[in-house]
Amino acid sequence: MSDFEGLNALVTGGASGIGRATAELLAERGARVAVLDLDPSSVGKPLFAHRADVTDDASVRHAVTAAVADLGGVLDVLVNNAGIGAQGTVEDNPDDEWHRVYDVNVLGMVRTTRACLPHLRASGHAAIVNTCSIAATAGLPHRALYSATKGAVYSLTLAMAADHVREGIRVNCVNPGTVDTPWVGRLLDAAPDPAAERAALEARQPTGRLVSATEVAGAIAYLASPHSGATTGTALAVDGGMQGLRLRPV
Ligand code: NAD
Repeated sequence: MSDFEGLNALVTGGASGIGRATAELLAERGARVAVLDLDPSSVGKPLFAHRADVTDDASVRHAVTAAVADLGGVLDVLVNNAGIGAQGTVEDNPDDEWHRVYDVNVLGMVRTTRACLPHLRASGHAAIVNTCSIAATAGLPHRALYSATKGAVYSLTLAMAADHVREGIRVNCVNPGTVDTPWVGRLLDAAPDPAAERAALEARQPTGRLVSATEVAGAIAYLASPHSGATTGTALAVDGGMQGLRLRPV
């Protein structure tokens, strides 16, 4: 498929996991793609790569300017994907941890979107896709802080969709379930028996397996592509049936 031929895309958190799979898929399908990441050292051609910390406004603005210059001045697709995890109930994390995770997961999207909007407006038919999570609406145990940040991402997606619809900018999000990325690998590795923990996690999925990063990338690509031209202000679940079937991943 070459449905992104002639289009320019920017993916945050694009050096690993879902972001990396998305950047590679968009490039395979014809887009020119720039990745922004804390550590873009593993990212090579055909992707453009820039170091950026989404918690630092100057860093984001600088990297977006450089990336848009690489891509030729216009941005058609923004994938706001950079994010970090957090475990625990409201009693487990002090205020500064709440601020730290919110700063990455929510304000990171705000800063990147703000820096990209002038370039997205220039497209005339742009799409923003935010990586949200089933945690936004599922009521997951021991994920109070993470869930609150993803709830904010969901609300932000709807508000941005309303604000920019008449500018030719669509805004949607994907809600992944448990995705087999380096992030989940790190969580499993921290368990006393990682193999047993993985097997238990897989057994709790309706499909009996974790979601792949490529499957989430496919959903992001759909929402970023002209095929979803009439879709804005929606969340697409990519969770192996977890939420639709009212099941819990943990
Ligand atoms: P990952 O850790 O494999 O990749 C995240 C990337 O974001 C890394 O390359 C990291 O360097 C980058 N990043 C982190 N903080 C950053 C910052 N301050 N500035 C710039 N880049 C930064 O994680 P992943 O599993 O691919 O997760 C990507 C997104 O998917 C996150 O928003 C996460 O909340 C969401 N998500 C993941 C899962 C899952 O099960 N893996 C489920 C639902 C949602």
